[in-house]
Amino acid sequence: MVTLGDDDFDPLLTGFALITGGSRGIGAATARLLARQGWNVCVSYRVAQQAADEVVAACRAAGRQALAVRADVSCEADVTELFGQADELGTLRALVNNAGMVAPTARVDEMDARRVEQMMAVNVVGPFLCAREAVRRMSTRHGGSGGAIVNVSSAAARLGSAGEYVDYAASKGAVDTMTIGLAQEVAAEGIRVNAVRPGFIETDIHASAVQPDRLERVRPSIPMQRTGRPDEIAEAIAWLCSDAASYVTGALVDACGAR
Ligand code: NAP
Repeated sequence: MVTLGDDDFDPLLTGFALITGGSRGIGAATARLLARQGWNVCVSYRVAQQAADEVVAACRAAGRQALAVRADVSCEADVTELFGQADELGTLRALVNNAGMVAPTARVDEMDARRVEQMMAVNVVGPFLCAREAVRRMSTRHGGSGGAIVNVSSAAARLGSAGEYVDYAASKGAVDTMTIGLAQEVAAEGIRVNAVRPGFIETDIHASAVQPDRLERVRPSIPMQRTGRPDEIAEAIAWLCSDAASYVTGALVDACGAR
């Protein structure tokens, strides 16, 4: 599914940002904010086409070019197709590796291989594939003119998520390590790579853990005594995408109310 905006877009003058999982939650808030800041955007989604179309409409209402593409980030062919379609928007300047999943709460001694493999496929393999496509387009080594990659990790990477989903936490630990290593690998090629590590943010993801009351329950344990909003995470992501963060790379930025 592809939705294009205005006809007067000049790809030679304006770059764009690609946000995976931009149909809902943190990804949708990021797409809307980047569009308000002047970015053209491509959002990917897995199933929520209507929600993705609403994000595209909001970005277009902000005067930007916008595109929505269905792609499962754990599927290599989908990722290749996603970036190929996104190239219609011109020059890729920013990738936000946001798409991610949790699974129902379980202890490690209750997990089967299928669950852990799917977690790693979506939360680790997906960001690697998307980063590969972005580097091929942005790196001066490949004839590109630079850009920024922002990985959406989680505070879980350093907390471990015992009794909830250690597999999820471990997948985000891998994202952190990828952030540091890739940042060093492409630092001299015009690409900055950073991660944002949100704490408890008010999105639908908690329902996937079959814990609809999770945010209410954890609130007292957060030093700031409140959960975060998707737009608060979007602000950190947008800053890392921007030239205002021109000397910031390989950073893991915690946005979790001091948790
Ligand atoms: P969300 O509201 O559940 O949204 C998840 C987004 O990812 C949706 O757009 C979804 O697309 C997409 N997605 C899921 N699986 C996908 C797949 N296999 N391929 C492509 N897209 C896929 O989640 P969120 O809370 O905004 O989370 C966004 C990121 O922040 C995730 O990486 C998550 O781990 C991280 N994070 C969230 C929190 C939090 O408290 N919310 C805390 C720390 C980190 P469809 O809807 O179209 O399927």
